[in-house]
Amino acid sequence: MKQSDPPALSLDQIKGIIQYPCCPKQTAVVSLDAHGRISVQCANCGKYLLIDNDRMTATVTRPCKGAKARFRSAG
Ligand SMILES: [Zn+2]
Repeated sequence: MKQSDPPALSLDQIKGIIQYPCCPKQTAVVSLDAHGRISVQCANCGKYLLIDNDRMTATVTRPCKGAKARFRSAG
């Protein structure tokens, strides 16, 4: 079986990008249907960020303690 490319958002499915406050070279791509807030870890410096998809902002936050133990990945 031929290996297929992983899925990607096409440009018309993207609302915009959010630049990480800790590392300006790091960005999050926000899809048009993204709402609410998500907590992500910066791949560059390891800081935790709270991304607000509605306001298109990112702020440095504390890690969500215990979240990994309590919730399983839906993937
Ligand atoms: Zn960073």
